[in-house]
Amino acid sequence: MGQIKVLDQNMVNMIAAGEVIERPASVVKELVENSLDAGATEINVYVEDGGIKLIHVVDNGCGMDSDDLALAFEPHATSKLKIIADLLNISTMGFRGEALASIAAIAKVAITSRCTDSIEAARIEIDCGVKNNVQPCSGDTGTTIEVRNLFYKMPARKKFLRTANTEMTHIIEQFTRIALAHTDINMNLFHNDRELYRLAAGLGVRQRIGNLFSAELAQSLLELQSTERNLKLSALLCRSQSGKANAKFQYFFLNGRFIRDKFLSAAVREAYRGLIEPDKYPIVFLFLQMPPQSFDVNVHPTKIEVRFDDSNLVYSQILALVREKLLSLDLDIQAKLPKSGQIPSSQESQDIKQSITGAMAEFFSQNRQGAAGQRNFDFSKIAQKSDSAAGQQRERFYDELQTAPVSLYLQIHDSYIITQTEDGFLIIDQHALHERIIYEDLCRRLASDIGAKLESQKLLVPESFELTDAGAQILEANKDLLQRLGIELEPFGPGIWAVQSFPSLLSGVKPVEFIIDMLDVLADSVGKIDSERLLHKILDLAACKTAVKAGQKLSHAEISKLLSDKNAIQRVSRCPHGRPTAIKFSLAELEKQFKRT
Ligand code: ADP
Ligand code: MG
Repeated sequence: MGQIKVLDQNMVNMIAAGEVIERPASVVKELVENSLDAGATEINVYVEDGGIKLIHVVDNGCGMDSDDLALAFEPHATSKLKIIADLLNISTMGFRGEALASIAAIAKVAITSRCTDSIEAARIEIDCGVKNNVQPCSGDTGTTIEVRNLFYKMPARKKFLRTANTEMTHIIEQFTRIALAHTDINMNLFHNDRELYRLAAGLGVRQRIGNLFSAELAQSLLELQSTERNLKLSALLCRSQSGKANAKFQYFFLNGRFIRDKFLSAAVREAYRGLIEPDKYPIVFLFLQMPPQSFDVNVHPTKIEVRFDDSNLVYSQILALVREKLLSLDLDIQAKLPKSGQIPSSQESQDIKQSITGAMAEFFSQNRQGAAGQRNFDFSKIAQKSDSAAGQQRERFYDELQTAPVSLYLQIHDSYIITQTEDGFLIIDQHALHERIIYEDLCRRLASDIGAKLESQKLLVPESFELTDAGAQILEANKDLLQRLGIELEPFGPGIWAVQSFPSLLSGVKPVEFIIDMLDVLADSVGKIDSERLLHKILDLAACKTAVKAGQKLSHAEISKLLSDKNAIQRVSRCPHGRPTAIKFSLAELEKQFKRT
């Protein structure tokens, strides 16, 4: 009986403080965020003894009048939410009205504030939840808060604080996160009277990174900007050769707020896969802007986690953008892309690079006459020139270089790819080219030895289709052909057959659909063409069905693959047939058309 008691407010605040205020760095975060919300353009943070003794934040924001000052420390007191709907549309850093109440419950706090339109300032002091009256005083526009002796009445909490140095490291981290996301604010940090950071507004995020980390890092980062659908992304990314042993140098911001998110981390990891050593973490600074309605920030007391409405979409957008940026870099990185998931060690790739540069320099000095000659650059020279020590690695490297994807291209109408050549440009029909590549590949596989057949895969569930007796006879007559293609069909009932196996290369093609079309071709050719030509007709059909279609948007990776495969088939193609895959325009032709000659 009478066991349950409603906690008094001070107790409630102390419990809330346990959630929001873990250590001095949390106080710094909450106070600086309040200054941002108040529209400050300059924020000074003075810290003593790692914040255990004093945290003192001065801003030039909108300030509070004496009525607001009296209320600001009440739990759930906030000026940032007025109606429920505001919760879906949060654009301020704070909104829960917990921070000041929590801080005042666990420390000795004094706050002086003056509104823009007021002639004098007001001051209130609170000692572990015990409030004094608001007093008028003199002071500048803006707000000054002093927080002393954190946890001094809570020995159990105080015990968990670390040395001043460690606590200061945490404060610097919080300061850094906010400073990176708010480059339009002057922000300064002092510790025990020593100036740690003086960050001027308006110099951009790269400069901030330079001041907060190092100028060298700042200069080395790649820049990425993109706006698509609901997502605006601006990012600074490390090059593939640099990385860290942990994820500490991965900064994600959503609408100006530092967040941690497993989808974003996974997208970055995936984007760098194969470009960075597997046990390294890339250094990234990702700034996302999304409409506030498309995620929920109210899932964590310190708002460090959010819940995206469509996290899969965010994941795939970030992955694609970052990956594309990294792959669009120079040949240097393209050539390093591992085929077998392994990367040459830096010494090896250094060696290889040197021999390549050497061979190229020699080539170009002998071929000064210009662009036309460059086509004949003999890559085998590289192999000859290099010693055999790193033989295999080098061969692979050289292989990649030879087929290194052309990085300059444009896809138009989702159907044609335009790419620059040494002496002009090409317009490629994406479907025709892909069809040709697949066709050549199929031919090669079947030509390699007598009786060669395509690799096939058993279907988990055989797919059935209707077949007339005449159709069944055609199948019977072309048994050998089907066998070479790796297609296995079996009677399944009266007038019904089933596909048991299907060539694995024809992924994405619906087996039954293909068989029906193939039956048409076979029926058409009875007695007209020999078996070899018939086989090629069927391979043609298979290539056509497997190839990308006109009207299909291709990713950077798909286009690069297509262009590098194109180089490969040009070297080996023996049987040109059918429609052209590309139309070539030379600079000379352009010059003629534009009457430049
Ligand atoms: P929240 O930020 O979630 O609203 P806080 O407890 O952090 O809650 O602050 C309570 C209120 O006090 C704020 O909504 C704001 O109106 C006022 N306030 C706090 N800090 C400042 C400041 N530096 N300048 C002006 N107003 C402030
Ligand atoms: Mg706040």
